[in-house]
Amino acid sequence: MTTCLFCKIVSGEIPTNKIFENDDIFAFLDINPVNPGHTLIVPKKHFVDMSDTPEEILCKMILAAKMIGGKIMDKLGADGYNLELNNKPAAGQIVEHVHLHIMPRYSDDNLKLWPGKNASKKELDKIAKKLLNK
Ligand code: AMP
Ligand code: ZN
Repeated sequence: MTTCLFCKIVSGEIPTNKIFENDDIFAFLDINPVNPGHTLIVPKKHFVDMSDTPEEILCKMILAAKMIGGKIMDKLGADGYNLELNNKPAAGQIVEHVHLHIMPRYSDDNLKLWPGKNASKKELDKIAKKLLNK
């Protein structure tokens, strides 16, 4: 028997507010929304994070986000939305079943995005070289 919270939500063992489901994907409202309509999109099968999730499932998660994002704007009147995938605990991943957050945004919601840091050209060049090389 699974101990994973999101597997229990997918199976119906833990009640939720489902907003979308297909063969591979399940989407439900986050219980602590950043804004009303904050949704979590998860694969029905258990994968921990990006590293063990098959590419085809990741594609289906993004397609679901596009569809749900449209509804969030059309039906809830959001002006936009943020997608976020916290990958591994260092990045804020608490539930270890891969999930994509879709957070409705309003022009006047006063939420702040990530603060940018200054970086020198030398630093940027060095990092780009490391990432570009195989
Ligand atoms: P993360 O930090 O990316 O792992 O996000 C986990 C998210 O799961 C948080 O935004 C929580 O509010 C949300 N969450 C935790 N328990 C539940 C639940 N039972 N139903 C819906 N969302 C949940
Ligand atoms: Zn799970």
